[in-house]
Amino acid sequence: MPTTPFLPLPEDLEIIGVREAGNQVEIQVLSHRSRCLCPGCSLPSQAIHSYYRRHPMELPCTGRRVRIVLSVKKFFCHNPDCPRKVFTERIPELIEPSSRLTTRLRALIQAMGVAFNANGGTRLAEQMGVQVSRRTVLFSLHLLPVPPVGQIKRVGIDDFAWKRGVRYGTVLIDLDSHRIIDILADRETESIKQWLQFHPEIEMISRDRGGVYADGAAQGAPQAIQCADRWHLCKNLGDAVESYLKHHPLAIPASTPALETKETVTSASTYEQRRQQRRAQVTFERKQAIVEKVREMHRQGISGHGIAAELHLARGTVRKYLQTEGPIRQTPRTRQPSLLDPHYDYLCQRWNEDTPTALQLFGELQQRGFQGKLSIVKDARYPPSSRTPRHETPTKITDHQESSPNAFSKRVALDPREKRGEAYP
Ligand SMILES: [Zn+2]
Repeated sequence: MPTTPFLPLPEDLEIIGVREAGNQVEIQVLSHRSRCLCPGCSLPSQAIHSYYRRHPMELPCTGRRVRIVLSVKKFFCHNPDCPRKVFTERIPELIEPSSRLTTRLRALIQAMGVAFNANGGTRLAEQMGVQVSRRTVLFSLHLLPVPPVGQIKRVGIDDFAWKRGVRYGTVLIDLDSHRIIDILADRETESIKQWLQFHPEIEMISRDRGGVYADGAAQGAPQAIQCADRWHLCKNLGDAVESYLKHHPLAIPASTPALETKETVTSASTYEQRRQQRRAQVTFERKQAIVEKVREMHRQGISGHGIAAELHLARGTVRKYLQTEGPIRQTPRTRQPSLLDPHYDYLCQRWNEDTPTALQLFGELQQRGFQGKLSIVKDARYPPSSRTPRHETPTKITDHQESSPNAFSKRVALDPREKRGEAYP
């Protein structure tokens, strides 16, 4: 059988047998080519050195793996000027030299890798009857030709993390097409300079406000206009405002949280606020002690790395503490609004009447127009702060706890002072 519509083959290749081996189909293919071009000198040779077999994977058939047992030759090269004396038969229409996948299967894996990444491509390939590893998918992607950069007028330059905090590269983006056009292995001035020197047509460079890219752009493309990109401008502005507000807390006029209406301000919420303030104070004092410890170790000559390891802190945290002078300031934390806020009174009322489960409350709240999910009701602090005793920290409702009808009442006792509506001192 020279060929079949199910497995079209190049000229002079013949199918000489098909057999099943487990969940795999093996197709034996013989090459009848008697001459081949030497890859070293491009001269043809008919001097056969030997025969051997290759076993590449082919496209799957009806969900089963297909392997080709390909019988090919080695040839002598008699050209005295050629460094190769023996070379293997080339069949570029079917398979690349040394490849274990046919060209058709390689193209399929590349397409899946582009569409789904290495992990997704591997999983999809397995479903289709192709057994490849993630490394094979990645290797196949690396074989794809890189599209040329072409002519660009405006380019954006920024860094990205190969491994955050350890190694960074540079990404270059065509600001007209909004496409990534190249990436560089590092973020050094020299790399930027060399890349830009190959593109004298660039008219504008948008970059962050760091010195590395400014120097690289000035040296590599002195003709281009440099500007700070919008994201970095906004981020710098945000950082500056945040830093100012942290150091000038008194400049912020006291305001009432938008969602906390008059009706929700009860003695209980006063208690809750005081409890949170006490916890914040404890946390702040603990943090202040750690800062003093870091500064003391720094005065003793211990490196930042050593301090971070000793105190189990991130190196960035140690650096931040050392850069700050004087006592640290307490950062006010703002409460995030919740979808439960409009139903606060109802939750208090229901809790004082009964010991509902989260699922019951969720159903009742939905009838009252609650748009959130069950997880919000489960994650909420229960009971509402009107019943939280001072000595107990509210916890999440777990499914296990929820199965007990009296789960809440077992964990929380109603405080008499709260019943009377008195505020805690
Ligand atoms: Zn040769």
